[in-house]
Amino acid sequence: ERERLARLRHTPAVTLDGQKIELLANIEMPEDTTAAIAAGAVGVGLFRSEFLFMGRQGNLPDEEEQYQAYRRAVEGMNGLPVTVRTVDVGADKQLDESRHDAAHLNPALGLRAIRWSLADPSMFLTQLRAILRAAAHGKVNMLVPMLAHGSEIRQTVALIEQARQDLDRRGIVHGPIRLGAMIEIPAAALSLRLFLKYFDFLSIGTNDLIQYTLAIDRADESVAHLYDPLHPAVLRLVADTIAACQAQGKGVSVCGEMAGDVTMTRLLLGLGLRSFSMHPSQVLAVKHKILRSDTSKLAPWAQEVLDSDDPSSLVLPN
Ligand code: PEP
Ligand code: MG
Repeated sequence: ERERLARLRHTPAVTLDGQKIELLANIEMPEDTTAAIAAGAVGVGLFRSEFLFMGRQGNLPDEEEQYQAYRRAVEGMNGLPVTVRTVDVGADKQLDESRHDAAHLNPALGLRAIRWSLADPSMFLTQLRAILRAAAHGKVNMLVPMLAHGSEIRQTVALIEQARQDLDRRGIVHGPIRLGAMIEIPAAALSLRLFLKYFDFLSIGTNDLIQYTLAIDRADESVAHLYDPLHPAVLRLVADTIAACQAQGKGVSVCGEMAGDVTMTRLLLGLGLRSFSMHPSQVLAVKHKILRSDTSKLAPWAQEVLDSDDPSSLVLPN
């Protein structure tokens, strides 16, 4: 089976009815680009930059170290695009286990991701400059996690502009980026007009979108049976996000686990998704599914699933 899939590595991901699908990789370290290329991914859809920040006893990577790491990822992809997500620490990704702060009673709702970045602008500017510098070496997209508020969006956009000006003032080379937002808080999925005003593309983080929509801690085994990607509310938010982006000709992808789950591939295709980002190990299996799918037949069926009170009864487990 693995060998049969491996033969698909250079096969373009095109459906039976001729729809081109973009299959991207999620990575945690620059070295993971080797696995992304080996799997035939056509870019990195999610570089979880927080892995550069974790397990270092609070000694954060400086601009040069980050720049070198992002640059290595860009070079590792040989000209294919790389989407660098700004740090998403907090909640299940504490910088340092020994510093677990009892004051944060519910870290998933606390100072996490963009909230953490905006709380320390000089640290955030360091990362923004490093990403802009890496963008001089290839196609770089910047992706911002956990946004919900217009004020956060505007602060972020202003800081990116400031980072650019800082580099110009220092005479340091930087490149253009496309700017994207993670849609992973229900409030974001319900404020798409606001997001589309500011961003070039959106990326749906289903791991957190499910967690926050259903109030199920993604790391809590005792409620794992209620963590349901097929809950009608989750599907509605995913479908609306895809549709809103398509209506405005903006890019949209899914980068949560749902994108790499072959039991979800056809539903996502039917909802109009054309870009998937997943762990490199899933790319070929998802491609195999895509090659045998006809989106013209899947679209009406996906609408039925969306309108159903019991979607899981309509989605086959294989
Ligand atoms: C997500 O929330 O779906 C996502 C891709 O981000 P992370 O899993 O890193 O929170
Ligand atoms: Mg997330």
